[in-house]
Amino acid sequence: MSTAERAPILLTPGPLTTSPRTRRAMMVDWGSWDRDFNDLTADVCKRLLAIIHGEATHTCVPLQGSGTFSVEAAIGTLVPRDGKVLVLINGAYGKRLAKICQVIGREFSTFETEEDVPTTAADVDRLLKADPSVTHVALIHCETSTGILNPLADIAKVIESHGKRLIIDAMSSFGALDIDARHTPFDALIAASGKCLEGVPGMGFVFARSTALDASAGNCHSLSMDLQDQHAYMAKTGQWRFTPPTHVVAALHEARSQYE
Ligand SMILES: *Cc1c(COP(=O)(O)O)cnc(C)c1O
Repeated sequence: MSTAERAPILLTPGPLTTSPRTRRAMMVDWGSWDRDFNDLTADVCKRLLAIIHGEATHTCVPLQGSGTFSVEAAIGTLVPRDGKVLVLINGAYGKRLAKICQVIGREFSTFETEEDVPTTAADVDRLLKADPSVTHVALIHCETSTGILNPLADIAKVIESHGKRLIIDAMSSFGALDIDARHTPFDALIAASGKCLEGVPGMGFVFARSTALDASAGNCHSLSMDLQDQHAYMAKTGQWRFTPPTHVVAALHEARSQYE
């Protein structure tokens, strides 16, 4: 059997087994700056945003790279250089959030629970009362490394009641568990092409609150990770700023149709 016929079943959180339709969508080559491809990108973003009912409040910004690239981009873009992030940890991906803050130079504090103990809204309420200098809270929705599901809706409401901003890594929950931007307030929710939606790996996307994204110009430590710039350029030209992962976008578009 050839490699293509062997069709392995991947029992990992992502990349995972893709359908023949999704794989076939990658048999077409797209010109990266062509009208057709711009339309495809716009349609993918629109349909992704609809999954969380974020049309009225949020903007979907796609970014090249694995999921971590988009998490780093969201923190780097939305947290001002003099901001402070409270990082909620109960596993490896939570620790990675703290590492990102450390590497890109955003002040942060951490709150860690055991790997089988979700963070609660009461924890967050107490932590925010104790440290008014926190501007943003970063949370892993489903901590893939342990299987812990943190109570996102309750935590989001507490954060909003303190007037703070929430950044959610929803990499292994988006597309599998309901998340509704109309009732769960957040400034950013991050996921990627190769996880629950069953596309192929190669790009992430950030649902950013439009007002926060527009206000974030100049925050980012990096040119290629700057989501505000990525969005502003795309809004103006329809194009990605730098070479897009064309086949990945086409596969995600097809995977999204099957999800529907
Ligand atoms: C998969 C995943 C990521 C991203 O990991 P990459 O290796 O960059 O794709 C981030 N957070 C969570 C919770 C994940 O499951």
